[in-house]
Amino acid sequence: MLLLKSAESIAGRLTRNEAGIVVADLPSAAQAILRQSVKDRFYYQIADSYGHRLTGDAVLPLPADTEQTGPKFRMIEVDGQPVRMCRMPIQITPSPDDIWIQVAETLDSRQRFLRHIFLSILVPQIMLIVLASLSVWLGVTHGLKPLDKLGRVLRSRAKVDLSPIDIGKTPKELAPVTNALNDVFSNANDLISSQRQFIGNAAHQLRTPLTALTTYLDYIGRLENSTDDEFDGVLKPLSEAVNRVTHLVNRLLSLARSEECGAKELEQVDLSAVVNEVGVNLAAFAISNGICMDFDLPETPVYIQADPGDIVELVTNLIDNAIKYTSRRGSVWVKLDQRNSQTVALIVEDDGRGIDDNEKMRIFERFYRIPGTDGPGCGLGLSIVFEAARSNAAQINVFDRPGGGTIFLVKFKTNNNEGSSLKKSEKKDRATVLEERSLERQV
Ligand code: ADP
Repeated sequence: MLLLKSAESIAGRLTRNEAGIVVADLPSAAQAILRQSVKDRFYYQIADSYGHRLTGDAVLPLPADTEQTGPKFRMIEVDGQPVRMCRMPIQITPSPDDIWIQVAETLDSRQRFLRHIFLSILVPQIMLIVLASLSVWLGVTHGLKPLDKLGRVLRSRAKVDLSPIDIGKTPKELAPVTNALNDVFSNANDLISSQRQFIGNAAHQLRTPLTALTTYLDYIGRLENSTDDEFDGVLKPLSEAVNRVTHLVNRLLSLARSEECGAKELEQVDLSAVVNEVGVNLAAFAISNGICMDFDLPETPVYIQADPGDIVELVTNLIDNAIKYTSRRGSVWVKLDQRNSQTVALIVEDDGRGIDDNEKMRIFERFYRIPGTDGPGCGLGLSIVFEAARSNAAQINVFDRPGGGTIFLVKFKTNNNEGSSLKKSEKKDRATVLEERSLERQV
């Protein structure tokens, strides 16, 4: 603006004499005022439309652009210094020719002014923004720390652990959230427990009439006046159906039992005695299937910290399956292998039809039976085994038996002093057991 004003004031002092020559009425006093009106070095120049300097500083470039109409600003260099220049064409009557006024100034004061603006306004503003961002960041990080801690506490829990969070282990500020979470856990726990209880009760209620029905069917089958045809046509399918339902109900009951949640003190169980007892109970079944059973058990007790009911279910289902899925004249080997002072492995091996690799993960799913599997069964046996293993911190693995057949290996922690305080709440979740199982298989 200052440059334009200077150019305009110079324009006001230009006239043409009678000969048409441009006369600049710029006495040295006026030039001094112009040069002092700005704090920088000031240049001016007046030139005609033919590019001839009429008066003023020769250091300014002569105008070349004759098309220009109004004032124009541009940056040029004078003596190696950046200079801002305003070039303005005017006409001085009577001639229509353009007269060019050029004024320019160095940028020192402008830069000083910018520096001043930067230091007095921008620097404090930037510092304020940095400080504000820092305090917001610190505030948010500090404020979120308790949530982070609560998140870590939650993440460290087993997937199926619905026990209440220990308020003492979580930040005080989050006590209302922790209490609310505990309420949610407690409600979910109640719901799951009541559903399991319902299944358990229903299975239990069904068991009694089914047992009675089986007994009546046996009795009718043995009546003297019933013929074999009558038995085969009506009673046999009925008896088989009742057996299937009884089997299913028993399995549902076992599953409901082994899935029972809540912290439960585990007992000292002699694994060797359990295996022996189950073997005795299943001997008749093995004989009727033409299976030879071989038991290799230590003579001294092998104690594990476990739920006795779970262990009976686990051992029964594994040996029962080995017998069921091995053809006549096959063999089943059951062994307890005390590997070291902390672990004992139950190995149930058969020379039956084996299990394909892609089925090895699926057989633990509920109600899953490998396609083509005949005979009694509902696909719940290995789910019960799995739950029992999980509940008792045991690892289960399935291998192919060299020469054909399957090996189920369950590793238990033996009951040394550290292990004796193991609670049911410390049980491993399904994913961990499966993961370990697949890892072991790879080894
Ligand atoms: P169920 O025996 O009632 O069918 P399980 O859950 O015990 O149910 O077993 C699931 C499936 O795994 C069985 O249907 C069978 O196909 C397969 N399986 C289990 N154990 C063996 C085994 N020892 N050998 C071969 N296949 C087996």
